[in-house]
Amino acid sequence: TPRVFSGIQPSGHLTLGNYLGALKRFAERQDQGVETVYCLVDLHAITVWQDPDALRQQTREAAAAFMAAGIDPQRSILFNQSQVPAHAELAWLLNCVARLGWMNRMTQFKDKAGKNSEAVSLGLYAYPALMAADILAYHATHVPVGEDQKQHVELTRDIAAKFNHDYGVDFFPLPEPVIEGPATRVMSLRDGSKKMSKSDPSDASRINLTDDADTIAQKFRKARTDAEPLPGDMDALKDRPEARNLVNIYAALANEAPADVLARFEGQGFGSFKPALADVAVSVLGPISGRMAEFLADPAEIDRILGQGAEKAEGISSPITARTREIMGMILSR
Ligand code: ATP
Ligand code: MG
Repeated sequence: TPRVFSGIQPSGHLTLGNYLGALKRFAERQDQGVETVYCLVDLHAITVWQDPDALRQQTREAAAAFMAAGIDPQRSILFNQSQVPAHAELAWLLNCVARLGWMNRMTQFKDKAGKNSEAVSLGLYAYPALMAADILAYHATHVPVGEDQKQHVELTRDIAAKFNHDYGVDFFPLPEPVIEGPATRVMSLRDGSKKMSKSDPSDASRINLTDDADTIAQKFRKARTDAEPLPGDMDALKDRPEARNLVNIYAALANEAPADVLARFEGQGFGSFKPALADVAVSVLGPISGRMAEFLADPAEIDRILGQGAEKAEGISSPITARTREIMGMILSR
């Protein structure tokens, strides 16, 4: 039976990229009636330094964003990762299955470690094995992610296949990455070659789900672009990454095809396109940030919801990790 798993790191304010690449799709999956498990991956967040008070706040904010985007904790399992022991436990078991050579090919590690890769945490390097554990601990079959996480889901498949092969079992299903629609990689507003990230040091590079209407309009106004007017079709935007990004964002927010957006704005410059883009963004994000604020007014209720979700998540993942240990030859007598 299909089961969807996905997660988001509570490593900062959630962005427009997280909304279009993840939250919006998570809500759609839930509404299709499939079993959906959504995790605030705090164990992933601490692979880079997190101030403890900030981490707590960011986790509640992410939970509020999920619910504001339409994830219903009665219909989806919504929880923070560290409250369910299966994730850290299975990650260790899978560390012993994953190969160093595979990990060395992960582009996210290279991007995040940068030039100073000797000084980053061991956890940042092992991150993809923890992500494999997150998915496999639920025997998840589908993983909706943005384009940037596709390589990690492919690694998860490799780890699952090697486990099944080495132990001669057919235990872990190979999960499918689910990536669809325009703007599955929303790019930075300052640099069209970098993806929009909640952990980017520049706040001007992204739209946060908590930004108010004036801030959203101002960030789009200042977004880097070129001086050319918009062309009539997407092919002509091949070498104009900043322009292409803004058109894709418009299309994704308005639920339109990028070609239809261009048909309407052909010949116009950014002086008229950017305010139109800000208007669509405010009409979509305004109600979301309003609902987030309502949830955040009661943090104890958010914590209660996460605790309940964690209990349900443990009910699924604990037998799967116990069975994994048993398959590997560890004594299971309690
Ligand atoms: P960080 O900078 O801390 O890595 P992030 O913004 O990349 O934060 P993640 O928590 O790593 O967010 O990813 C959560 C989900 O959001 C994943 O499914 C990821 O693919 C998706 N996502 C992240 N950034 C983008 C983006 N710019 N465009 C589309 N999807 C994105
Ligand atoms: Mg990321």
